[in-house]
Amino acid sequence: MTERPEVETVRLGLAPHIEGRRLTRLEVLDERLVARSPLPVDTLVGSEVLALGRRGKWLFAKMRHGPHLVLHLRMSGRLLLDDGGDDPRRAVLEFEGGARVDFVDRRRFGELLSWTDTDLELLDDRLGPEADTIRVAELRKRLAGRRGMLKAALCNQQVVAGIGNMYADEALWRAGLAWDRPAGSLGPDESRRLASAIRHVMGRALDAGGTSTRDGLYVNASGDPGWFAVRLAVYQREDEPCPRCGAPVRRAKTGASSAYFCASCQT
Ligand SMILES: [Zn+2]
Repeated sequence: MTERPEVETVRLGLAPHIEGRRLTRLEVLDERLVARSPLPVDTLVGSEVLALGRRGKWLFAKMRHGPHLVLHLRMSGRLLLDDGGDDPRRAVLEFEGGARVDFVDRRRFGELLSWTDTDLELLDDRLGPEADTIRVAELRKRLAGRRGMLKAALCNQQVVAGIGNMYADEALWRAGLAWDRPAGSLGPDESRRLASAIRHVMGRALDAGGTSTRDGLYVNASGDPGWFAVRLAVYQREDEPCPRCGAPVRRAKTGASSAYFCASCQT
């Protein structure tokens, strides 16, 4: 799982090594990683990284000239400094001064893209407000009238940017709200609780360097796991006691994934 706290942790780890440096070489060993790029990715080579930014779960290196380097880690992508591994499912980026970043993805859903200014602006317009600073008025406006389930709305990047399955379950538990309620059904007090729960969970998870779950897929740019998993209340804790009321945590199948929740204190 890579959601906002994980992507931001990776960004903080990489930025000092690539900002202000020219991308001198880009070697793509697995073409699937760049298959969705609108421009050939070699258009990125030779330009200097001005700043490494993030919007929702997207990372982008703003370049001084020409298109920008955009990355999405999806389920299992990793950006590793000086990895030195030999997994062929990767692209290798080398920067002036010797920094090397390997983009490795076992499942190959990750994306390395060359985007214009316009592409970046369109992304910014399309995404909802950032999860870590979401205000109750914005959240209410974006949930109003939605008949779909609350959890699906939270995972919709156009509603709030940066949340996925894991932190949606955690925020809903913290707010005491059922995942399958109609998204538009929240009252003012419930909306306030939810906005506050989202900000809290995002902030605490970032402080812990993100969450490495049992699948072991997420690590930061130095290859280290994040430690928020020890504080997860419900996610992947089926049958364990709810930290608030002691009832067993339940799991419901929702399409390709699951919702973890406490049926007794989330209503
Ligand atoms: Zn409970």
